[in-house]
Amino acid sequence: MKSVERENDGDSDRTRERECYRCDRDVAPALLFRIDVAPPDALADYAHSVRFCCQDCVAAMGMLEFTEEWKEQAGLV
Ligand SMILES: [Zn+2]
Repeated sequence: MKSVERENDGDSDRTRERECYRCDRDVAPALLFRIDVAPPDALADYAHSVRFCCQDCVAAMGMLEFTEEWKEQAGLV
């Protein structure tokens, strides 16, 4: 028996922001890091860009930083 699948209009705003631009994994928007790239004025050919990226890829790029609060709790400060 096949269940009836309804078209979910709420899903229509599902965009590529759901997935990590590096590994293409489907990641919930709430768990994506925003990478905002502002090129220097001297490189005028490049545009400002924004990408959304998963935690693992941010870590792989060496850009993952813990908060000071987290470091204190972990005894790293
Ligand atoms: Zn990723």
